[in-house]
Amino acid sequence: KKLGVALVGLGYYATYQLAPALEKTANCRLVGIVTGTPSKAETWKKKYNLPDKNIYNYQNFDQIADNPDIDVVYVVLPNSMHHEFTIRAAKAGKHVICEKPMAVSVKEAEEMIAACKAANVQLAIGYRLHYEPFTNEVMRLAKDKDLGKVTFVEASFGFPLRDLKAWRLNPKLSGGGPMMDVGIYALNAARYATGEEPISVTAQTVKTRPDIYLPGIEETLFWQMKFPSGAVSNHTTTYNSGLQRLYVGYENGNLEMAPAYDYGPLKGKTSKGPMDLPIVYHQVLELDGICGSILENKPNITPGEEGLRDMKLIEAIFKAAKTGKEVKV
Ligand code: NAD
Repeated sequence: KKLGVALVGLGYYATYQLAPALEKTANCRLVGIVTGTPSKAETWKKKYNLPDKNIYNYQNFDQIADNPDIDVVYVVLPNSMHHEFTIRAAKAGKHVICEKPMAVSVKEAEEMIAACKAANVQLAIGYRLHYEPFTNEVMRLAKDKDLGKVTFVEASFGFPLRDLKAWRLNPKLSGGGPMMDVGIYALNAARYATGEEPISVTAQTVKTRPDIYLPGIEETLFWQMKFPSGAVSNHTTTYNSGLQRLYVGYENGNLEMAPAYDYGPLKGKTSKGPMDLPIVYHQVLELDGICGSILENKPNITPGEEGLRDMKLIEAIFKAAKTGKEVKV
């Protein structure tokens, strides 16, 4: 059986990555959409052969509860809308996949987890890299210690933001700047590269264009983390420059990936040689992984709790940047 997925929010990521991926997945397929734009409903209906009864808007979305075609709701809206639509989907009895960052605060993330638990549905966060071979190798090295213990991580992700009218620059919709958008990948990478949870963070921001980057939207953010084993990490996220790398220093060698977080192809090497790993369609593996877990009634590997850990760290990093002090986590 293939699970039926409804995409909520038909923007860039849903249109150009998730919908095409759902044509290649084995455990699920696109059966419905939720959109506020009637013209998009028409286009998608024709393109993906969707029945009228599986097309919803943000107002009548809750009626999805009565639709047996739809097993999973995938929330691909601006960050501050993740909370509302995840909870509404859970209350409608649907499993939920929610894009990263899972919410704009720890409190929201906790409420989303609680709502999915109460409704007895799975919650998965769209951490596509966790389903991808290069990232799995970085995780394996932390566990098997082929190159020894991790001593240092440098993980950074930035891009030049060109659409200056984007919701990404509205703090009410984004909950922050590049940290909420792509910095979260670098943060998550430090956690999977060490296999540890940070114990403290420090952070600094630099703003050169306050007319564009309003209060609540950082422009460039540098941060550092300390881990229980003694490993330390250093990070940059920015809307000013393309930057995408992961460096892991081990007792007996190192690993370097660039690009480290893109849809692909990813590239990397360790001190032992090139990382010769398959290039995959991240979103296909992610969707099949999550939907496979749902079908087998097993926990998925990127649950709400994984999203919550990043949210707690992001709040600590923002606090550290604001106060200039080290924040214990
Ligand atoms: P986008 O701007 O292209 O799409 C957002 C969609 O939300 C649009 O269809 C828009 O019409 C709709 N929307 C509904 N209410 C809105 C409102 N009040 N303001 C603005 N738009 C509104 O954004 P996107 O790049 O598709 O990002 C959507 C989500 O997906 C974000 O949370 C982002 O972090 C995440 N994302 C994840 C990845 C990944 O690789 N996992 C990649 C890109 C985006």
